[in-house]
Amino acid sequence: MISCADFMAAIGDYLEGDVAAEVRLQLETHLSHCAQCQVVYDSARKTVRVVTDSGYFDLPEAAARPITEKIMAKIRSKGRSS
Ligand SMILES: [Zn+2]
Repeated sequence: MISCADFMAAIGDYLEGDVAAEVRLQLETHLSHCAQCQVVYDSARKTVRVVTDSGYFDLPEAAARPITEKIMAKIRSKGRSS
């Protein structure tokens, strides 16, 4: 069983689909019973989608990644303080 902190640590990779199947399953299991992480995941997913789908950032992934990571760091720190 993973903790909220584990979930927060992995959410960036999870959103990018960059996790092993086993890890993904653990994250999804946690998500299914943790309301707090559902909220974080939902807002993170929307934020990432805005960044990547807006067309405003007409950038290759390598250039867009630091932006996404900055947002993820903000979301993570918010999750920690609450
Ligand atoms: Zn949680």
